[in-house]
Amino acid sequence: MIDLHTHTTASDGVLRPAELVRLACQKGLHALAITDHDTVGGVDEALSAAAATSLTVLPGVELSAALERGTLHLVGLYVDHRDAAFLAGLGRVMTMRDQRNPRIVARLRALGIDIEMSEVAAEAQGAQSVGRPHFARLLVKKRIVPDVHTAFSKYLGVGGLAEIPKERLAPAAAIALIVAAGGIPILAHPAQTRRSGRELERLVKDLVDVGLAGIEVSCPGHDSGTRGAYEKLARQFGLLRSGGSDFHDFSRNGNRLGYGSAGAKIPDVFFQEISEYRARIVGQGR
Ligand SMILES: [Zn+2]
Ligand SMILES: [Zn+2]
Repeated sequence: MIDLHTHTTASDGVLRPAELVRLACQKGLHALAITDHDTVGGVDEALSAAAATSLTVLPGVELSAALERGTLHLVGLYVDHRDAAFLAGLGRVMTMRDQRNPRIVARLRALGIDIEMSEVAAEAQGAQSVGRPHFARLLVKKRIVPDVHTAFSKYLGVGGLAEIPKERLAPAAAIALIVAAGGIPILAHPAQTRRSGRELERLVKDLVDVGLAGIEVSCPGHDSGTRGAYEKLARQFGLLRSGGSDFHDFSRNGNRLGYGSAGAKIPDVFFQEISEYRARIVGQGR
């Protein structure tokens, strides 16, 4: 059993990297990728926790890329988590994200709403990632809107009066960042792109043209039919197959460490093929 897509407290997971490693060992996993959003801050702790075990930890990351509709996430496996240029690139991504909240505050204030960034931060109670749900709850408390739903429809959501679109990397830039750090770029949970059939095929082709190397064919929430479609795409474009639970905690989407599509275990063969590919690119001195 393996898991090539997981989150820790370095981003929005609930387990510390060492705790996640312990859980992976208890469950008998032999490979675990740490793929936190926009950061490799959890990798070193996971590597040292796994040092005396038979578990292989793959340093990884998960990046969000711009897509006009749906969600495009790219997992980078085997990134060099100490590479200075890579860390600087991730720093720029984080800055892009952090700049959004003050802009929402400014827009709301321009609309005559009395709100401060410090109040939003207090509402978030030290969460690593402060975002629109915190704004929504604060607007309800201030009786600007009757409920969170209205906060989104009137102010924060798409077409809202204080909508600030998330700035994201272009897909090619996200892939380039991963590749430059020696990583293997993988399309994460393809269903979240909200595309299937020809439309998904077109997106995958565009990503392959800019360096995509793999696709998650096994992820929770996909049934076996969807998995079959992704396996077909992998064959069509010569992509590596990957799989991960996208583990964050013990409740969210019922994601269980080591389990992917249709509640099935993520097969070891994905890890073998990815490791062989990795050995080849390292051998070629890329
Ligand atoms: Zn994701
Ligand atoms: Zn994820």
